[in-house]
Amino acid sequence: MVIVMKLNSSPEQIENVNNRLQECGFQIQMIQGVKRIVIGAVGDRQSINTSTLETMPGVEKVLRIMKPYKMVCREVRGEDTVVQVGAAEFGGNRLAIVAGPCAVETKEQLYAAARAVQKAGATVLRGGTYKPRTSPYSFQGLEEEGLHLLAEAGAETGLATVTEVVDEESMRVAARYVDILQIGARNMQNFRLLRLAGQVKKPILLKRGLSATVEEWLMAAEYIVSSGNENVILCERGIRTFETSTRNTLDLSAVALVKTLTHLPVIVDPSHATGKRELVGAMSRAAVAAGADGLIIEVHPDPSMALCDGPQSLNPEEFDELMRRLHPLAVAVGREI
Ligand code: PEP
Ligand code: MN
Repeated sequence: MVIVMKLNSSPEQIENVNNRLQECGFQIQMIQGVKRIVIGAVGDRQSINTSTLETMPGVEKVLRIMKPYKMVCREVRGEDTVVQVGAAEFGGNRLAIVAGPCAVETKEQLYAAARAVQKAGATVLRGGTYKPRTSPYSFQGLEEEGLHLLAEAGAETGLATVTEVVDEESMRVAARYVDILQIGARNMQNFRLLRLAGQVKKPILLKRGLSATVEEWLMAAEYIVSSGNENVILCERGIRTFETSTRNTLDLSAVALVKTLTHLPVIVDPSHATGKRELVGAMSRAAVAAGADGLIIEVHPDPSMALCDGPQSLNPEEFDELMRRLHPLAVAVGREI
């Protein structure tokens, strides 16, 4: 449930409400809005009399939330959560553009990609170093060596950085090098990993699982937020459907829907969603029109030589063109880029 405190509630009144909730076994999270404090309480609602709670000094109202995700839902926080990372802002008016190679391969490859995406207007550099591949014989990533390169390329170009983590060890190591940790589609329901992500001091980019419902995706975000990390960025990256002519099916209705259900920022990955570079531009524009707060796009200096996901990667010229064509669309829907 959510306890909305009065505009003029005193610190002592807030403390009393917290104490009462904790005595009844609730896990609490204070949410400081622009004007007022809201207390998110997770626990067994039967263990407290909510009408009595509502009469406590300083309490305006108690909202019973039927949705299973409580801390990430809109009812808890009316304003959008804005996750600020370097020059990028996820959830603000300005679109956050993340771009870079699927995987960090070499210093030359990464630097060429970094310079190109920075020049075209991206503010975050992506690069996989722990690659969850379908085949054990495919390139698995450079791991810590790749993280070194990613951090260096980020520092040199002024871009913030994001990389995927796949387990406790990679999370611990990557947190030392990059600005945002990505939990990929395949790990969206790795609940231990989600809890650990709640304990790190870096924003988490949480991709939607290959076959996850919107509710399961938001519950995954709830794991992270309820474990202590409020900086979660959701990413729609296409889901598995009967359709095989694209790699996945980009669920843009989920983007519009999720924006109504949660205060967290939502971005779109048109690269993994389609698997085809010729569709990435159109789906990027559609995503922004649907209300996405940003994009994550695969860019490789020479996609024909990519060790991973070449067919969906743009070359620098294609990415530059995508950014130019995105501009008027962003303006048309009232967003800056
Ligand atoms: C990726 O972004 O490199 C990736 C593997 O994406 P996903 O988890 O969405 O498949
Ligand atoms: Mn990829």
